[in-house]
Amino acid sequence: MSRPQNITILGSTGTIGVNTLDVIARHPGRFRAYALTANSRIEPLLEQCRQFRPVYAVVLDADAAAILSRQLRQQGLETEVLCGAEALERVAAASEVDAVMAAIVGAAGLRPALAAARAGKRVMLANKETLVMSGSLFMEAVREGGATLLPIDSEHNAIFQVMPTQFGHGLERVGVSKILLTASGGPFRKASAQELAEVTPRQALNHPNWVMGPKITVDSATLMNKGLEVIEAHWLFGADPGLIEVVIHPQSVIHSMVQYIDGSVLAQLGNPDMRTPIAYALGYPERIESGVGMLDLFKIARLDFEAPDTARFPCLGLAFEVLRRGGTAPAVLNAANEVAVEAFLQEKIRFTDIPRLIEAALEQVSIVDVQVLADVVGADEAARAAAKSWLERKA
Ligand code: NAD
Ligand code: MG
Repeated sequence: MSRPQNITILGSTGTIGVNTLDVIARHPGRFRAYALTANSRIEPLLEQCRQFRPVYAVVLDADAAAILSRQLRQQGLETEVLCGAEALERVAAASEVDAVMAAIVGAAGLRPALAAARAGKRVMLANKETLVMSGSLFMEAVREGGATLLPIDSEHNAIFQVMPTQFGHGLERVGVSKILLTASGGPFRKASAQELAEVTPRQALNHPNWVMGPKITVDSATLMNKGLEVIEAHWLFGADPGLIEVVIHPQSVIHSMVQYIDGSVLAQLGNPDMRTPIAYALGYPERIESGVGMLDLFKIARLDFEAPDTARFPCLGLAFEVLRRGGTAPAVLNAANEVAVEAFLQEKIRFTDIPRLIEAALEQVSIVDVQVLADVVGADEAARAAAKSWLERKA
């Protein structure tokens, strides 16, 4: 391609967004930021506009958008400001766009990711909630839109790297016997059930290996993140739940593995830095520099593995359960989890209440088949309402 590739970054001010811009800045002739988007914090977005000169900046909030627009003009910058959720879909699907980094957190990322898939873009998917909520619809949109789907989640990116390219024909046909999804185990890997009940948000936000946004950091501490990733792996690789095994690997150096019927296990290793999967997806099928330091095996010295404990970390078991149940069950789990994480961060509930609240929502909301997006949206809303009434009863 002679011109630089136009990249839309949905959620450019988040951890993944910032890392994506870091990689893009290393390859100025190759990539160009076409649209950058943020929820409401405009200071970092303004700074990004100054550095990357995107065609569009999208802000969800109308007042914030007006302020940003004024500031851009005062500084003589030509970036056009759009506002609202529909504008996210517009910059995800615009004809000039080559690739979309889907890095909004939570259910809010679903519609723009779908729009990018339908428009046949190269979709670099960080927002795992999209696949958890609506895996069947999203994969269908990818197929029908002719999109190229590249996983950004480090585990799925690792699996993608060591998977035969024809995996879409079925894992058995390509000789895969198991996906070994690694997990750091989070900050409370060794905590007793008693200690888990007393965990504070501050402790939960202190991840041993990765720097990430608050929601996914709490999810990592409850192991819900791994649960969401099991569901994500199911959709990305067409893997039955029985083919996915979670392996606790505290060093986070092996990012996941694929086991084959001949006994081979292929792994992808690297320093825990999201710029590696981001650069992989941006450059694919070529390899490009990411800014990540080389792995020093002598310094790492050892790699440990253990089985997960679903008694202390029930969220992982719940995720397997909803995946087996199918339909809107994963969407209910996802929405209830978002409400629960928020309530925990606001110190309204205990860490150990998170799985309780999710279980309560799963009992209360009726699960239906997913035919259209409205089924998913309905389940999401019903689960949020159920979760909120559980919180009110508890208060
Ligand atoms: P973050 O909280 O750091 O950033 C979230 C971004 O989304 C911000 O730019 C924010 O402005 C935007 N946003 C939030 N709510 C929004 C809304 N309602 N509408 C529009 N935009 C909104 O999160 P993150 O850690 O960068 O994670 C982003 C996604 O990537 C999540 O789905 C997460 O699970 C996934 N992911 C992150 C990592 C990581 O290392 N951070 C790794 C794997 C997967
Ligand atoms: Mg991950």
